[in-house]
Amino acid sequence: ISLGLVGSEMCIRDRARLSRRSVIRNSGIPMVQAVGGAPVIILLSAFDRGAWVGNKVGKHKESPMIFTVAIDGPAAAGKGTIGRALAARFGFAYLDTGLLYRAIGAAGGDPVAAAQALRPEDCTGPELRSREAGQAASRVAALPPVRAALVEFQRRFARREGGAVLDGRDIGTVVCPEAEVKLYVTASPQVRAHRRWLELGGNEAQVLAEVLERDARDTDRTTSPLRPAADATLIDTSDMGIDDAVRLAVDVVERRLAAQETPQ
Ligand code: C5P
Repeated sequence: ISLGLVGSEMCIRDRARLSRRSVIRNSGIPMVQAVGGAPVIILLSAFDRGAWVGNKVGKHKESPMIFTVAIDGPAAAGKGTIGRALAARFGFAYLDTGLLYRAIGAAGGDPVAAAQALRPEDCTGPELRSREAGQAASRVAALPPVRAALVEFQRRFARREGGAVLDGRDIGTVVCPEAEVKLYVTASPQVRAHRRWLELGGNEAQVLAEVLERDARDTDRTTSPLRPAADATLIDTSDMGIDDAVRLAVDVVERRLAAQETPQ
């Protein structure tokens, strides 16, 4: 076998079964898990580029790893924290799709034109995190042509090589109905408003009113309303610390990855 390690993640592939892969928990000590034939351990980053590294087979071309984690749910439920933790743990890319709508809302002018001209560099900056930007985002997000302009970019991101985590409102239902893992992360409006208030300050009752207003707008709109996909795993973080919520999400992803390993 050959061995490579990036951070604490390793990929083990059975060279007889190129489509199989398992990402294992490991903090330094190589754990070799044969799934039939001699295992080959490769660098995650090199794997993501689709190349075998230092194995005995030679310069074999890899089948790319496509694996999407779709996370949906209302504002301040913990989607972003869980999404970033999953991305870090499994070496997946992460996209906060709310930032796309926030950038369009903040651009002013014609939202459809802003959506069509949107560039990655427009989706950064602390001002996009404000409560006002959240409200503006949910207004432009109700417009079908705005959503249509963003869907292709999100789908490409979701199916990129190496795996991806996307969080938003319609990822498991509309953007990636074929996602390998779907999570619906929620919490009571009071808990979510309290978290937003701790994060952004202001008047807590006012923050709660805004959370409820945004929930209603996101849930009641005709195009891509907020709702859990039928096959989503529900994570209610109302009475749960972030570590427990992340652990639950990690378990779901690990189970799905393991299922892909199991011979049919
Ligand atoms: O997640 P975040 O609070 O940043 O999202 C801001 C707003 O963008 C949401 O209230 C929602 O109206 C909209 N949004 C959406 N679809 C997504 C992501 C966000 O409609 N996939």
